Amino acid sequence: MSLPGTADVVIVGGGVAGCSIAYHLTKLGITDVVLCERKQLTCGTTWHAAGLVTQLRATRNMTELAK
Ligand SMILES: Cc1cc2nc3c(=O)[nH]c(=O)nc-3n(C[C@H](O)[C@H](O)[C@H](O)COP(=O)(O)OP(=O)(O)OC[C@H]3O[C@@H](n4cnc5c(N)ncnc54)[C@H](O)[C@@H]3O)c2cc1C
Repeated sequence: MSLPGTADVVIVGGGVAGCSIAYHLTKLGITDVVLCERKQLTCGTTWHAAGLVTQLRATRNMTELAK
């Protein structure tokens, strides 16, 4: 499959973060979005996650992100 020459938004990385950004942007109506994944969607850290939704992280910023 060929990549488009231009896009309003290019997301690098198809883990949970990249897929979530793509999902939420398109839900907001921003549909010219390209997600680039070097191997296979969720093949990175996301593949290993147990799926637990914890909110306390090592730093305040990471805790805010998790919330
Ligand atoms: C063993 C383990 C268990 C875990 N369990 C949990 C859990 O229970 N609950 C929880 O909340 N979190 C858990 N985590 C943490 C969680 O998995 C990560 O915080 C989360 O998956 C990170 O997502 P991400 O999208 O930022 O990164 P990733 O999932 O790593 O995605 C990054 C993607 O970018 C791609 N990429 C990298 N460079 C490029 C490039 N140059 N061009 C194109 N693509 C590129 C990679 O191939 C990869 O697919 C766990 C982590 C591990 C290791």
